Amino acid sequence: MNRLSDIGTVKEILSRHGFSFSKSLGQNFLINPTVCPRMAEMSGAGEGVGVIEIGPGIGVLTNELCKLADKVVAIELDKRLLPVLEETLAEYDNCTVINADVLELDLNALIAEQFEGMEVVVCANLPYYITSPVIMKLLEDRLPVTAITVMVQKEAAQRICAPVGTRESGAVTVSVNYYAKPKMLFGVSAGSFMPAPKVDSAVIRLDVLPEPPVKTDGEKLFRVIKAAFSQRRKVISNSIGAGLGLDKAKTLELLERAGVPANARAEKLSLNDFAAIADNLE
Ligand code: SAM
Repeated sequence: MNRLSDIGTVKEILSRHGFSFSKSLGQNFLINPTVCPRMAEMSGAGEGVGVIEIGPGIGVLTNELCKLADKVVAIELDKRLLPVLEETLAEYDNCTVINADVLELDLNALIAEQFEGMEVVVCANLPYYITSPVIMKLLEDRLPVTAITVMVQKEAAQRICAPVGTRESGAVTVSVNYYAKPKMLFGVSAGSFMPAPKVDSAVIRLDVLPEPPVKTDGEKLFRVIKAAFSQRRKVISNSIGAGLGLDKAKTLELLERAGVPANARAEKLSLNDFAAIADNLE
């Protein structure tokens, strides 16, 4: 068993290092011994594979990844955790910890420097305050990674993994599906963390697509998706018109050219519908 998921060990290490949790950095550390081995296994970490981990905390997941992968690069913002990680990862020579904000890093450059010749995957228990920006950065930067396995809040996981065109879908569902095939892996209860958050979590895996499933201008597509879901309960002609700053006549003309019914709602549209609107946007 990974001793870092034992609550007594976690408390002992943290108190010895005089560490106190930062709520604003989303610090909820895993104390359920079954989660990290399962997550690491399902992430694709293995021989010939390099892993990027975001927010290693005290290294509980990092340990499991180091056992499986050729190399692990863990990006941790809180420099108070660096001496902790030095201790908890001491037995592995295939791990590098980088003290940085993942949102500020050039991950393409990092991959070129650190993982030459390797297949690369991402595996992380994400800080919840930046779940969507991190996922979208990982996808929008078109990183040469094959899969992204992340733990996020259960509601966010359900939203991302909902089929496009259903009530449960949202802007993030459509956006993620442009880049990847999302899949729900397993749920994790709030009691699996210290301190326990208010909500449950889930682990999802995004298998990155070699090419987007629709051919269109990505920048226009994302403007359309954002506009359409900005007022998700309204019919598409109202939300798109308001979101893109078009008058009624122009909006109806645009939707007609795209072949999308003016009275449809954003959550009912397919990725092809959004792409058709983007294609007809001047
Ligand atoms: N992986 C550990 C675990 O599962 O117990 C910790 C996960 S905790 C939910 C999130 C971690 O992300 C914390 O260690 C926190 O300090 C770190 N973090 C927060 N914001 C970050 C950022 N912008 N860039 C990199 N790491 C960040």
